[in-house]
Amino acid sequence: MTGNSKRGSKQPSPDDTADPRIWFESHAASIYERLGVRQVINAGGALTRLGGTLMLPQVVEAMVDASHGFVRMDELQARAGAIIGEVTGAESGYVVSGASAGVQISVAAAMAGTDPARIARLPDTSGMANQVIMQKGHRVDYDHAARAAGASIVEVGLPGETLAWEFEAAISERTAAVLHVANRPLGPLDLAVVCEIAHSHGVPVVVDAAAALPPVANLRRFLREGADLVVFSGGKSLRGPQASGIVAGRAALIQSIALQHEDMDIREEIWKSSPFASGSGRPYQGLGRSLKVGKEEVVGVLVALQAYVAADHDAEEGHWREMAAYLIRAIDDIAGLSASIMEGFGGRNQPVVRVEVDEATLGIDAATLVLRLDAGDPPVCVNDRPLQEGAFIVNPTTLADDEMPILIHQLRVAASVPST
Ligand SMILES: *Cc1c(COP(=O)(O)O)cnc(C)c1O
Repeated sequence: MTGNSKRGSKQPSPDDTADPRIWFESHAASIYERLGVRQVINAGGALTRLGGTLMLPQVVEAMVDASHGFVRMDELQARAGAIIGEVTGAESGYVVSGASAGVQISVAAAMAGTDPARIARLPDTSGMANQVIMQKGHRVDYDHAARAAGASIVEVGLPGETLAWEFEAAISERTAAVLHVANRPLGPLDLAVVCEIAHSHGVPVVVDAAAALPPVANLRRFLREGADLVVFSGGKSLRGPQASGIVAGRAALIQSIALQHEDMDIREEIWKSSPFASGSGRPYQGLGRSLKVGKEEVVGVLVALQAYVAADHDAEEGHWREMAAYLIRAIDDIAGLSASIMEGFGGRNQPVVRVEVDEATLGIDAATLVLRLDAGDPPVCVNDRPLQEGAFIVNPTTLADDEMPILIHQLRVAASVPST
């Protein structure tokens, strides 16, 4: 009963999509069905490739509400900044279109400040300090965002170790910022030490904390440890709009972010009333203009942030643990699979289930099993991070209770199909 053998007439082939009568079936139940796109069971966690997370009802309601009226975006962002500041303990804040966008615009802020000539030049960084220092153990594929601002990344340390003297020696007059990635087990120089050294040279520290929630305490922790700007994804644990993120930090840097992000299609005389206006003059559309957010995203992520702070995180974690225990019992019952609880996956305190695939028993490897789950009906998408170790992760945090029996059934089916 895999999807390949069971795809009905509702699943159009790529050739069919040229015919509008086929690609939009108005009688179908969900928008995905109407589009002929398969809805999946997400057992992988908050992954962008699977659509991030599901927004809470009050977030969706706030976004619909926001869609009914116009607003001055600079005023909305200034209010957002005050709310983000209250929640995080920062001087100010700003809503961006994702954590990657946040890193890009934060690095741009560190390089250009409020100088309209520099803002206009980016991502050409000639004449500016343009190096971003990263500990080698912090390199992630998302750090492309720093280079997209025009900076170049200077690596310091070994994959598993950085020493304070070598970190300090990497700082020069060409250094624009330090990019520190939260939740990396490998860069052993702590944020507090990094901040102390960087600040003694007048260099700001940007923390990519995209996936560093929970715990909720991290909303304040990195700033307390000295970070100048901290970036969180709105589309992961916060359960805000998928294309949203927040930046929290020093007011002067937030002003630079605003100057490079706000729509500048406005006369200078009028722009002067903006809460972000600077004495140096109105810039042209900046680097952040291609990272724009809508009023709906701004409002949505604010409501998500407030709901996240008010949530009962212990109760939520308790529920995930119950789900994990159920999943472990059921998966252990399937021949060739064994499941166990795994703590601290991805540096977050969320319990997940690690499933080992016994290739000798099943006759297929973990990758084949995961591909079968992907092709199932309904498709089940797991987290494939430990695939090379012959394992995969089932993450309860994006699963609904009533999806769990289906997930178990699909696992049983995928594990029992004879290999070809
Ligand atoms: C997910 C992630 C990002 C990207 O976040 P978006 O909100 O999807 O842009 C950046 N950095 C790290 C470390 C991440 O885990």
